[in-house]
Amino acid sequence: MQKYSVVTFGCQMNSHDSERISDLLEDTGYEATDDVEEADLVVLNTCSVREKAVQKLRSEVGRMAVLKRRRPNMVLAVAGCVAQQEGEKLLRSMRSVDLIFGPDNIPELPALLSQLEQGGPALVRTEFDLEEPSFLMARPRDGRGPTAFVTTMKGCDERCSYCIVPTTRGPERYRGSSEVLEEIRRLVDSGVKEVTLLGQTVDSYIDPESRLAPAPHAGEERARHARGKLSREDETEFPALLYAIASEVPELKRLRYTSPHPRHLTPSLIVAHRELPVLVRHVHMPVQSGSDRVLKRMLRRYSIAEYLERTGQLKEAVPGLTLSTDIIVGFPGETREDFEKTLDVMRAASFTGVYGFKYSERPFTPALKMDNDVSEEEKSERLTELFDLADDIRNAHLASLVGTDQRLLVEGFSRGGGYTGRTERNEIVHFGCSDDPVGQLVDVKIERAFKHSLAAVLLDNIRARPLGGQDQATSKRSLNVVS
Ligand code: SF4
Repeated sequence: MQKYSVVTFGCQMNSHDSERISDLLEDTGYEATDDVEEADLVVLNTCSVREKAVQKLRSEVGRMAVLKRRRPNMVLAVAGCVAQQEGEKLLRSMRSVDLIFGPDNIPELPALLSQLEQGGPALVRTEFDLEEPSFLMARPRDGRGPTAFVTTMKGCDERCSYCIVPTTRGPERYRGSSEVLEEIRRLVDSGVKEVTLLGQTVDSYIDPESRLAPAPHAGEERARHARGKLSREDETEFPALLYAIASEVPELKRLRYTSPHPRHLTPSLIVAHRELPVLVRHVHMPVQSGSDRVLKRMLRRYSIAEYLERTGQLKEAVPGLTLSTDIIVGFPGETREDFEKTLDVMRAASFTGVYGFKYSERPFTPALKMDNDVSEEEKSERLTELFDLADDIRNAHLASLVGTDQRLLVEGFSRGGGYTGRTERNEIVHFGCSDDPVGQLVDVKIERAFKHSLAAVLLDNIRARPLGGQDQATSKRSLNVVS
């Protein structure tokens, strides 16, 4: 049997694509291996969101080229956003690559491989499936754990001036709601307890099948913007999709989504959070900057007052809800004063998780025309300051949970002994248990806060065990922290 290995770079969307690539290859008769040295086919699933993506790919391809010299029949494929972005150009500069395919061409992989097997030349396939978008269904598999991602849309119609995604993933296309619901149903039947809906702007969803009943309150309520205007009525059917999932798959325990755009955080989405217990009390809502001036240059299409007003309403509707976010520091033209405003927003929104990045130029983006005028040194200093504040906020939040009872979805073993689960707000909790609780929802009492996680005891006294088989009160061992 032929063996394959997929090497994944980048975001959750890419990890999800890698799983679909694996499903297809296994359906075609390949067997997975983690060891690229013994693989007959290696797929490098690339990401171009961060800088130097092509250089990173080049060094990875160089490593594979050495293997190929030893085993000339090995097939080397490049997938993902760099493949989409560079296409034919990659083939010209990386002679050891046999196949280049974009994210929308994953379903064609078996046919492309068969062309290569028949002795065909190296191939490039980077067409967007604009007419008939396809979304590969995840194949429920043993051992994948109690959580799963389900794609609901792909591409992006926003034009944030720093972002390459609209170029590499194309315009927005949505998956039919019946397919989304069928996939969630199949996953839940196979033991999945928690689903995360996945899309570049996941909350811009519109059902191409037009079968969803409007969300209650869609378009009825209006929030007053800080700038004195009224917010738009629901443009999307994302809240309607959430209601459909809650009613058609009632056995699902937890529902998350990532990544939303703040401009679709409409009143009806806020009401959905209030009315649907399956929605977790945590939302990742990218803010990117705390300065209206910078947001305007980023083409983000909301003001900070709007962001804070809407997320404030969300927190009011769902007591205890926490937010995490993405922030770019050192965007062209960002002054110290602009950056201070970002720190102010961090405090105002109390983000319990922050993905912070230094701005770097991306090909094909409008921001390339702006003067990249914040020095690397300044960017690094701002990022450090951002993370220091993020640590303070998170530490205070985790400390506030000590002594509380929490419900966890147990995801696996803790490296320090015992088990690891997540609360619905994504806090990581380690605890001991006398039997294997993986995949179960368990109730615990939080006993200690660490830098990135918590330690707890099971409230079920019969199954409770000290962490790592030691008495927690006397244990000197520090737990491995999974972040
Ligand atoms: S919303 Fe903006 S940052 Fe997000 S994928 Fe689209 S263009 Fe990129």
